Amino acid sequence: MTNPNDPKLRSFLEVAPDCDFPIQNLPYGVFSTAGAGARVGVAIGDSILDLAQIALAGLLPEAPAGVFEAAALNPFMALGPDVWSATRSRISQLLRADAPRLRDDAALRARALVPMAQAKLHLPFEVSAFSDFYSSLQHASNAGMILRGPNAALMPNWRHMPIGYNSRASTVVVSGTPVRRPLGQLKIGDAAPVMGPCAKLDFELEMGFVIGQPSTMGEMLDQASAERMIFGFVLLNDWSARDIQAWEYQPLGPFLAKAFATTISPWVVTKEALEPFRTATPAQDPAPLPYLRQSGLQNYDVRLEVDLQTAGMSAPVTISHSNFRYMYWSSLQQLMHHASTGCAMSVGDLLGSGTISGDDKAERGSMLELSWNGTAPLALGAGETRSFLEDGDHLTFRGWAQGEGYRVGFGEAAGVVLPSLAAPM
Ligand code: MN
Repeated sequence: MTNPNDPKLRSFLEVAPDCDFPIQNLPYGVFSTAGAGARVGVAIGDSILDLAQIALAGLLPEAPAGVFEAAALNPFMALGPDVWSATRSRISQLLRADAPRLRDDAALRARALVPMAQAKLHLPFEVSAFSDFYSSLQHASNAGMILRGPNAALMPNWRHMPIGYNSRASTVVVSGTPVRRPLGQLKIGDAAPVMGPCAKLDFELEMGFVIGQPSTMGEMLDQASAERMIFGFVLLNDWSARDIQAWEYQPLGPFLAKAFATTISPWVVTKEALEPFRTATPAQDPAPLPYLRQSGLQNYDVRLEVDLQTAGMSAPVTISHSNFRYMYWSSLQQLMHHASTGCAMSVGDLLGSGTISGDDKAERGSMLELSWNGTAPLALGAGETRSFLEDGDHLTFRGWAQGEGYRVGFGEAAGVVLPSLAAPM
């Protein structure tokens, strides 16, 4: 069968070169329409291929039809990488310009192709657990310099393991969900702590990856088994309350400052679709311990952008450009490390990369870094500046891997900031 990543493949559906969803991508999501409940689909151009309908027509024989009628990708992911791969090949074959089966069946096309504009996109999988890492050297150095000064920017453990924490699955939301400014305990200067609205609301530009196969409690993962567990990737905004964080985080790390909302993109781009965009992980010094060693190209060249539109602006401005390839620790190393004490991984676990910043000022992945903790407010044009996010600010993340004449994109992870509720007395 043809390689579904072949750059020469074309779909019988029109797909613009700058569209995120050409036939080389085929990301999975969950959608609903006016007449029908949530089910699994694949994005192609500006349409969604309804996999529940395609399976009912008997065209996805490797998977039981029911898995695509689910309101989450978890049952499909649980089937494992051989089924993921076979299903993607079937879908690619169906959508090819030279394949008549779907192209020439008007009735099936009418049932199975839904204009994306007519669909509501849902959280694509049930998030079993969510852990977030801190694995971009540039971000960790910037944040450390801001919080601890230049001599203690990187903690002594940072170059020896991917640092992370267990966050909250319950507040992971799909792109488009508004995010309310949190209330929290704040300590300003020498005054006694107060309960009030966060004044340093921030975003973190991240990628997330989705675990599609479980591991057993007590089991360490080698590279080959870890690779087979990663189903795909999403854009991820780890909304952060810097002032709540500054007061609460010592000595155990982030807690409520990170627990109020995490936004992900609605489409899960499969690991297989990103294969052509693998690139080397930056040199690691010192060499990682044996359980963290990896061979092959384990980073991905995915361009990332953050747009901000304030309530007073008529169009967004791009405030950051970065790239997933900057990660010091790869997703694979993060997963091997996460399981290394025997921590079991589950189908539907979401692991965040950590904020992804580059060397350049324009590549900083958070307001904390872009405004240097408010000491250098960011100019947005038309006289507006930002140190941190304000009510009514609309943030949009975009990401894509650029091929020759096509892109494998993630769509958007977007959200608007709503004012906080009144603080209790
Ligand atoms: Mn984070």
